Amino acid sequence: MPDKPGPATLALHAGEPPRQVGAPVTPPPQLASSFFTHPAAIGFSANDLAEDAPHFYTRWGNPTLDILERKLAALEGGEAAICFASGMAAVSALILGRLSAGDHLVLSDVCYAGVAELAHDILPRHGITATLVDSADPAAVAAALQPNTRLVHVETPANPILKLTDIAAVAAIAREGGAELSVDSTIATPLGTQPLELGADYVVHSLTKYISGHGDALGGAVIGRAERMEALRKQSLIHFGGALAPFNAWLTLRGLETLAPRMALHESNARRLEAFLAAHPKVRSVLWPGSPRHPQHALAQRQMRNFSGLLAFSLRSGSAEAATRLAERLKVISYAVSLGKTKSLLFYIPTEDLLRSSFRLEGAQEAAYRDWAGEGVFRVSVGLEDAEDLIADLAQALD
Ligand SMILES: *Cc1c(COP(=O)(O)O)cnc(C)c1O
Repeated sequence: MPDKPGPATLALHAGEPPRQVGAPVTPPPQLASSFFTHPAAIGFSANDLAEDAPHFYTRWGNPTLDILERKLAALEGGEAAICFASGMAAVSALILGRLSAGDHLVLSDVCYAGVAELAHDILPRHGITATLVDSADPAAVAAALQPNTRLVHVETPANPILKLTDIAAVAAIAREGGAELSVDSTIATPLGTQPLELGADYVVHSLTKYISGHGDALGGAVIGRAERMEALRKQSLIHFGGALAPFNAWLTLRGLETLAPRMALHESNARRLEAFLAAHPKVRSVLWPGSPRHPQHALAQRQMRNFSGLLAFSLRSGSAEAATRLAERLKVISYAVSLGKTKSLLFYIPTEDLLRSSFRLEGAQEAAYRDWAGEGVFRVSVGLEDAEDLIADLAQALD
């Protein structure tokens, strides 16, 4: 490999086994739950796991997962990575692995709904308190820190309204307050943003989205310092048990081979769709970080090298009826959840539902969400189809 390989080269070549004559150029998935071992080789407890221990049981580690973990660490410029069965398995393993009863978490008030619900409903049962703040405002993060704050978790861009957090600013605030920072970079991808370089302690991904890219496998990962990842493996991966299936790891490796060209096309198609939507008379607002119309475009330009393919738009009125019409009339775009897949996906997220069931915001935070989202957002994961076909599909369904 060159001294400083670019991200497209890393996505293809980092972490692969050594080249040997006769070895397969594409390593096959190692579909095994256990490995031949020897009483002298490894202890039975996770606590006995040594860094150089041979493979033993796939919940501890597996050769296919090793390749993916090395590749993700290289792409994020981190020392080590751990893969999990899903993005939620990764986030919950990190939060429950790092925080104990009496600890406090600061969380973006707009983030993946499952993470917000974890903070509201599950963490308090374990004695962990959480404050949801507008992490787009670094001063709000600083004000939320308490002496027992151990972790600040932000998502940028945030699902579903593409709000951004200034990672470098929040990393400095967290460090000052004696807390660690984790960044959910699922939407940005390693091609767009490098949170560790900007001062984050952990990067979290739902591999389900852009990284695997084809909508056929769930997966998650945490990337960070080696000693932290070792503790996370022993405490959270092995004992909570949310290990990634080797076949899904292999599908993810296959998806990663085209991450760079896919992200370039996701971005250029999103740019075309954003311009179409911004000019549409029924559209109230459209949010995509790559557009000068995005209220945080200057931050996006500083922090993102690729603006990704997720956008959100809201309508002036009649959103619920429009959602039904879109679900029935779209022919190229699929009305379905998830994002980051080759095919375009669209899903309507009503503001009342999200505020009531997931975010549970009040006062100024509720007003800020309503301001961004209107009655509800149509989240579009812009895929790799021809941009003209996507525009024509949306145009006929919106009219
Ligand atoms: C999808 C998603 C998650 C959860 O990932 P799963 O793989 O569905 O468990 C977490 N964060 C973000 C930003 C997501 O989009």
